[in-house]
Amino acid sequence: IINPIERPQITQELSENIILTTVDDLYNWARLSSLWPLMFGTACCFIEMAAFFAARFDFERFGFKPWTSPRHADVIITAGTITMKMAPALVRLYEQMPEPKYVIAMGACTITGGMFSSDSPTAVRGVDKLIPVDVYLPGCPPRPEAIIDAIIKLRKKVAQESIQEQGAFSQSHRYYSITHK
Ligand code: SF4
Repeated sequence: IINPIERPQITQELSENIILTTVDDLYNWARLSSLWPLMFGTACCFIEMAAFFAARFDFERFGFKPWTSPRHADVIITAGTITMKMAPALVRLYEQMPEPKYVIAMGACTITGGMFSSDSPTAVRGVDKLIPVDVYLPGCPPRPEAIIDAIIKLRKKVAQESIQEQGAFSQSHRYYSITHK
């Protein structure tokens, strides 16, 4: 039992020695500090992503660790043209990633179909018709510095999430059938 007279002293001692936070902040801090990307490079945009993974840009300071298995990936980066033939494989990879999961769409071709958006019979006009996109990274191609900017934006998004909402993430999955118009 705390003597009421001693309480101010204990409160001051606690405030000086304990870092107070919420479960959400602690959980999100851990997650945003270890986002492992699954790389889905299909065309010339991937050359810039490969440059990003070189030593010059020190990507590991973000807790980024390129990964080849969707089972251990937190974010998939689609870089380059997505074709109709490739779409089922991309969706399957996305489905194999555990929740919560994120998507960075890198480059004009991924975001809108790019130069293939008007007359190609095989290009998907926007990867967000297949899977939900969290960060759009425009450019043709975006430079490695722009990838860093996209990662920072994704980290801010992760930091604002609540652990209570994460059961709803699986409901956000969208898989539209693709039709050419
Ligand atoms: Fe290539 Fe440009 Fe398309 Fe990227 S956006 S895949 S650089 S044509």
